[in-house]
Amino acid sequence: MKQAFLKAPFMVEIRDVELKAPGADEVVLDIKACGVCGSDVNAAQASAAYHPFGHELAGIVEAVGSHVTNVHVGDRVAMESSSYCGDCPACRNGHVELCDHKYVPPYEGFAEKIVVNARALVPIRSLSFEEGAIIEPFGVAMDLVEVADIQLGDEVVVYGAGPIALLAVRLARLKGAGHITVLAHAHSQKRIELAYDYGADEVLFTDQVSVPEVLKGRNIQRVLVTTPPSTVPEAVSIASFGGVISVIGIAKTPEESKCTLDINYMHFHRLQLRFSHATPALFFPLCIDLIERGLVDVGKLITHRFTLEDMQQAMSAVRDDKQTVGKVLMVRE
Ligand SMILES: [Zn+2]
Ligand SMILES: [Zn+2]
Repeated sequence: MKQAFLKAPFMVEIRDVELKAPGADEVVLDIKACGVCGSDVNAAQASAAYHPFGHELAGIVEAVGSHVTNVHVGDRVAMESSSYCGDCPACRNGHVELCDHKYVPPYEGFAEKIVVNARALVPIRSLSFEEGAIIEPFGVAMDLVEVADIQLGDEVVVYGAGPIALLAVRLARLKGAGHITVLAHAHSQKRIELAYDYGADEVLFTDQVSVPEVLKGRNIQRVLVTTPPSTVPEAVSIASFGGVISVIGIAKTPEESKCTLDINYMHFHRLQLRFSHATPALFFPLCIDLIERGLVDVGKLITHRFTLEDMQQAMSAVRDDKQTVGKVLMVRE
């Protein structure tokens, strides 16, 4: 079968590889849709060697191992990018989000098929495969918003306008945020349009205005950061007394991962800097519910669709089509 491999700078190679036989607990999935994640874009800029990629996927169960009972041949499913074990002390103490014995499936979604432990698979019910491929990043956005603990009427600022940020805007709106400001680059036209669609009240262009100046005097209770660590000090500085800053943005390199914070300032402003890391991947059933009920239209995020053979173009689009890109998917017939 065919599988895509990625390395820097934005180079994709399609190779013929042998599909391994599924073990007793495993499933062969015929992949129908797989999304390009921000972490794939980071890898496309930083990874020295070719590696398989893709962890936001949905497909059809094609074969099951002898012990598999939760899914059946023909089921339409999405894949959790990591799954809690259910057996470790954290899981048994009721804190599956703290599981330290997670199952992580192979991140090999840009391929025709994948062999994966059945426990990572969740039926997508009436959703399309494209919507199914958005569930994983949707769950990531949900974790970011849960960590921020948005309260009714809160003024919220969201750093970034990528798919995670946009879905977080929608969720913040559903959570009852009072006013939502999105900080985006002015060239991100499609994403700015989507930000308003999902419920933002205003979008500020970070390349055109000084954000702290524009937001001066506002009562910003929650700040969601999907941008690199270099933006965290500013995010901390705009939060009002007692504010919560929820961060998911990561760096491409160890150097870019560092930033300087004024701890006295944070202490005397009673700020809470929190980190979201949606591992294990949770909330798939809730995400499916929200999509099915029409509360979150994830389909309109998708702006670009490519075949597996055209994954080079897909990665180039993410790099080059700043104006028009929302979410980029690989789709298969
Ligand atoms: Zn991802
Ligand atoms: Zn566990």
